[in-house]
Amino acid sequence: MHLVIIGNGITGVSAALRARELAPDCKITMISGESDFHYSRPALMYIFMGHMGYQETKPYENSFWCDQRIDLVRGWVTSVEVEDHAIALHDGRRLSYDKLLLATGAESNKFGWPGQDLDGVQGLYSLMDLKKLYTNVEGARRGVIVGGGLIGLELAEMLHSRGIDVTLLVRESSYWNNVLPAEESEMVNRAIRASGMDLRLSTELKSVVDNGSGRACGVMWAAVGADGDGEQLDCQVVGLTAGVSPNKTLASVSNIDCGRGILVDWTLRTHAKDVFAAGDCAELENDGDERNKIEQVWYTGKAQGVIAAESMLGGDKEYAPGIWFNSAKFLDIEYQTYGQVGFGLPGEQHLVWQDKQASRLFRIVHIDNIVVGFNAMGMRWRHRVCEKWLAEKWTVDRVLADLADAGFDPEFFKRFEGEIALTMSGAQN
Ligand SMILES: Cc1cc2nc3c(=O)[nH]c(=O)nc-3n(C[C@H](O)[C@H](O)[C@H](O)COP(=O)(O)OP(=O)(O)OC[C@H]3O[C@@H](n4cnc5c(N)ncnc54)[C@H](O)[C@@H]3O)c2cc1C
Repeated sequence: MHLVIIGNGITGVSAALRARELAPDCKITMISGESDFHYSRPALMYIFMGHMGYQETKPYENSFWCDQRIDLVRGWVTSVEVEDHAIALHDGRRLSYDKLLLATGAESNKFGWPGQDLDGVQGLYSLMDLKKLYTNVEGARRGVIVGGGLIGLELAEMLHSRGIDVTLLVRESSYWNNVLPAEESEMVNRAIRASGMDLRLSTELKSVVDNGSGRACGVMWAAVGADGDGEQLDCQVVGLTAGVSPNKTLASVSNIDCGRGILVDWTLRTHAKDVFAAGDCAELENDGDERNKIEQVWYTGKAQGVIAAESMLGGDKEYAPGIWFNSAKFLDIEYQTYGQVGFGLPGEQHLVWQDKQASRLFRIVHIDNIVVGFNAMGMRWRHRVCEKWLAEKWTVDRVLADLADAGFDPEFFKRFEGEIALTMSGAQN
């Protein structure tokens, strides 16, 4: 049995390791066009900012793959020949497979802006983007970031760390308020402005200006929905960070069915025989009216990789999304979200605590007193404890009584738990 995995991100790697565990004798090949070895994509910014070397972003020694008997192939796969159970690489190599996993990740969105492909314009997704960035920041005085999500702010911080003035063009009326509730979003607005970056809300990119030799020298921007070409802002780097979409290029050219992503059932089988897909590139099909699901975070890639491996080896276990969790940093503000916050569930109620400086926040979302989700900003909480509250459907009072257990740094946390519990119990009564 030969398992071939395209992509060495967290999904591909999780699949390869699970397959090795389950099938000690099968042949496993993992292919990537991006890098020889798996590295941690979320660490891209830390490499640029000098907090980590590239070597440190690799969770496994280079020799690990050989020890695991997982063959690594460097190259871009250009097509899948489903009937022949074979794949073709850009340099003419061909490989046959018994089962194939597409773990091709995502790609930065581009919305057809004039000038979007000029030199100096880029996204932040891959090592290739990182390499481009080193060139693009040379001599740059201003960078414009288009789009207001997590990756946009990371790229903004990277430029800012080099002394480059940064302007953020954000379509929303408050930062990432399509995901963050108003108070959290306002905290991020304030943090961005306090850092000295120029945040322009309710604005959009009209086009990127060409300096006459194919390089960006500015952007045309305007208030959302305004007519005309907009106003010019000179800059030398443009970051396009208006979200990512599943990378379905390979699947599409190979006639494997796609919607927004590569279509899979919940065992992660595509519509093509012996071909599977998982992670950022996959779109899980739902029956009936419920929208298909695309999950594009690290831990869901890991979980889907494991299920995909089991399916490739004949299993029929379905992927079961756990309790939703995400964590990130908005500049210096730690952010954690658990469960269902911002879903607009029928009957949901919110309890919110903020410290006096509005630099820390805790939000509980509950329905009939049962906690269904919460956000923490400016504080770190223990994953194990927080998941338990949701999994076991704890009441608000019980959660408030247990806060001390969740604080990551109990000494520091003592100062807040009493205040949070008091504020929230008071608001309930
Ligand atoms: C800057 C940044 C910061 C992030 N921070 C966080 C975070 O803090 N927390 C979090 O949960 N998530 C974060 N994410 C998202 C997270 O990194 C992704 O969800 C995760 O990497 C997806 O893993 P994957 O294996 O599905 O895809 P990927 O990691 O994208 O791996 C896919 C691989 O397949 C390769 N590939 C694609 N097509 C081909 C082909 N035709 N031939 C050969 N190789 C191919 C790609 O080059 C890539 O190496 C971040 C993402 C970015 C870009």
